[in-house]
Amino acid sequence: MMRVAPFLQSLSMEYERIRLAADAGFWPAAARAVLEFASRHGAAGRELQSLTWIVPTGAHAALARATLGSVLGGVAFIPPRIAPLAAWLGRPLRSGTATHAALFNALRASPWVRSSFSTQPAALWGLAEDIALLSDELTLAALAEPQAYGERLQQSLARHYRRRAARALQPQAQLVLQLWQAQRGSDDGAAGGAMDELERRAQSGGGPLVYLAGAGGAALAAWEEHFLRRYAEHAPVLLLEAEVAQALMDRPLLAVAWPELTGENRDVPLAARADAVRAGAVAPRLAILPAATLEEEAAAVASQVLAWLREGVARIALVALDRLTARRVRALLERAQVIVRDETGWKLSTTSAAAAVMRWLDVVADDLYWRDLLDWSKSSFTLYGYAGKPEVVSVFEQAIRGGGALQGVRAMRRALLDVDAGDSGAVELLDLIDREARAARNAGPGLADHARTLQRSLRTLGMRPALAVDPVGNAVLDEIDALQVELEGIGGRASLAEFRTALAARFEDAAFIDHQVESPVSMMSLAATWLRPYDAALLIGADAAHLPAAPAERLFLPNSVRAELGLSTGESQQHAQAMVLASLLAATPQVVATWRTRMGDEPNTVSPLLERLQFASARACGDELTRSISAATRSVEPRTLQRPTPSCPELLPPRVSASQAQSLVNCAYQFYARALLGLSEVEDVIEVPDKRDFGVALHRILWRFHRAWAAADFSQLEARALQDDLARHAQAVFDPLIERAPALLAFRHRFEGLIPGYVVWLQQHARAGWRWAAGEERHEQRVELASGRTVELIGRIDRIDSIDRGSEVGSLVIDYKARSADQLRNAVRQPGEDVQLPFYGLLLGAPLEAAAYLAFERRTDESSGVVEVRANEPFDVEVQRVGERLRADLQRVAAGAPLPAFGIAAVCKYCEMRGLCRRDYWEHSDGEHSDAERDAADAAGISAGPE
Ligand code: SF4
Repeated sequence: MMRVAPFLQSLSMEYERIRLAADAGFWPAAARAVLEFASRHGAAGRELQSLTWIVPTGAHAALARATLGSVLGGVAFIPPRIAPLAAWLGRPLRSGTATHAALFNALRASPWVRSSFSTQPAALWGLAEDIALLSDELTLAALAEPQAYGERLQQSLARHYRRRAARALQPQAQLVLQLWQAQRGSDDGAAGGAMDELERRAQSGGGPLVYLAGAGGAALAAWEEHFLRRYAEHAPVLLLEAEVAQALMDRPLLAVAWPELTGENRDVPLAARADAVRAGAVAPRLAILPAATLEEEAAAVASQVLAWLREGVARIALVALDRLTARRVRALLERAQVIVRDETGWKLSTTSAAAAVMRWLDVVADDLYWRDLLDWSKSSFTLYGYAGKPEVVSVFEQAIRGGGALQGVRAMRRALLDVDAGDSGAVELLDLIDREARAARNAGPGLADHARTLQRSLRTLGMRPALAVDPVGNAVLDEIDALQVELEGIGGRASLAEFRTALAARFEDAAFIDHQVESPVSMMSLAATWLRPYDAALLIGADAAHLPAAPAERLFLPNSVRAELGLSTGESQQHAQAMVLASLLAATPQVVATWRTRMGDEPNTVSPLLERLQFASARACGDELTRSISAATRSVEPRTLQRPTPSCPELLPPRVSASQAQSLVNCAYQFYARALLGLSEVEDVIEVPDKRDFGVALHRILWRFHRAWAAADFSQLEARALQDDLARHAQAVFDPLIERAPALLAFRHRFEGLIPGYVVWLQQHARAGWRWAAGEERHEQRVELASGRTVELIGRIDRIDSIDRGSEVGSLVIDYKARSADQLRNAVRQPGEDVQLPFYGLLLGAPLEAAAYLAFERRTDESSGVVEVRANEPFDVEVQRVGERLRADLQRVAAGAPLPAFGIAAVCKYCEMRGLCRRDYWEHSDGEHSDAERDAADAAGISAGPE
């Protein structure tokens, strides 16, 4: 303990300053000093209520109270009031939302800000927060000499910006200056208010005061010193300072490695300093573990924690220098049933509770955009107590996806009508959402109006009760409630987007910390370890990027100006981190630091602070402190993943479509997944239309057109009239689609380009005698299997044309394709490979003369874009071949034949079941069937594609 003589000369009361080593003995020494101070000032014995003890954080308050108790021998006592400064003052030292909102309004009104920064609410809000932070720092720093400080600031800026290179930044600094001065003049409620309260307390002298300085290793600030001196004019003050230099006296190697912490001469080379302490030097209680990967690092940390727990270590600190690795550590420990008390918590912005609230604002702002709407309605934090919510939301989802409703209440309503959702409750749900969304859009001019309307929506939409039953949800509600209170009285207009930004910033700043968790293992920041005793500590991610962590980028005031004004600088912040690290090493019996030797492809280096310590330790003690990770080994029998060959005869569906029949040819496993398991991809609402959407529109137009003209002889009609009529039908189909998805306009132009070519083909076709007979007709055909089971083949045929040859009537099946003619020619080249047209032949039963694809490609100078493609084989032969094989395959499936995954690369490339069959894990063949695929198919007795 180092006692500094009390300052009694100019002060009417006592101002005593005691410096204590920042190591394991700090708290007992501090408690004894406090008791001695109390006894000198009328609080003798165990009644300390007249004393106030200011500490950096709530954790320190608990430590102070516990240590006083143990120094008093465990007897009952009345403790002093022990609290952090802000709690004692009853007001925060940092500005809150009200100040940010006021600054935001000021910034938004500035043409210079708008042109130099951004008009985006999020960017302006971030700027307002930065300026508020700086203003708070300036307000605190100016406490001792408010007038003179303002002048110093002006002079410092003038000096700095005299240099040409710095002139470009001058407007920024002047802006901050003006805003700070305006804020001080308006009696701001944050730091300025706290300073007023400090002054009031200093003058009223509320009783003896103990002040523990130095949160997170920072030095006593000038404003703190000023306040304590003012306080000491009215009541005795004891200033306790934790000194790292004292703590390092018994740890010479730490002092050698970090002379900047002890004030030693830094010009003496590290090697010389290490040599000087070689005699009797003891290596620090630190092991440094380099890891190759994140997983190895996390596993090493988790193993160390488990080993310590097995040894009975009671208090373990996990210092999360690298949050990513720390999160993985936490997950590994939870898997090993070790719950971690996470003091850093989760940002509310990352929680699903906050996301539900933000999603609601997105639903409102983006006019019921379908993804937001479904996300929001499926959240467990919405529609609490809504009767039949799962069923209603399910109908809602099916209608939106099936109807392609992109956004807007009209589109949603139409989609619900299409699925006839009248009795499901989905229409009522849409009404409710629409009502609340309108209310939110018309909330009123200011931020407070938006906050009030959000509160109303939370109640009406069953969000408040849903959030209230969840601990994180409760934290979210607390933030919303506090925000509303803070925004009351804020003037100026604000849009919903600006309110959303304010709320998002609030959720970003607030953390959810589960205080219910009791565990010997705590996760925290490095700063949070300051003056807190642990039996063991782990520094996770102790590399150059994280230890010391680079200070946050500072706008507006350069470091040189900040240093002149007594504000923290990047260097002072890094110094504070080194202080905390040194104190942790001095106070903790066992410390392990881990770091990764590579970050992706780049080499990574260990923390420069630890590197210096390693060098000093190697030089003085011959121990470089590096230890290798001893990975826990487990032997696992290697097992290669097998090609799946399921068999499930009882699931053979009663109906098989053309596309399912094609699956059976392409890959038996694909058939199993699609037809037997009934799996399919979830339909998404069209946002960027693709060829499939063009195909759907194409079918609708041609169906409308031909239904209107029926069996007309097109060869006798005016081509121009036919083109105009087709264009009219195209308009009728595309207009509502374009209203929903404007990108479909390009497809409309594409179709219009194909109209002349289609009419030419149509008239030639008619000249050959073909007449339209039916379109979009559903057909089915029963197939009797040997086992007595029947399977119905089903399908909808795009078009059937007929020809009257006098003695007989011939039929032709046509299938429209929005694909290139070359692709279709390739598909039909191999007999049996493409089964769609023969499948239609099976459906119709009656002999068909032919079948053809009609390809609608892009029109070019060389091609009209409309091309008919027919198979080379006689159609009746092809129908018979496909029919026999399909019957045989279905028979084998019904008999329990295995259904192996044997798709060829070209099929697998577009197969949505690839993740299910895990092809990438068991086979990497491409091109045609590999031998293995053929073997698998042969073994199963299922036809493997083209023969
Ligand atoms: S990815 Fe290939 S092998 Fe797998 S199911 Fe699809 S088609 Fe069959």
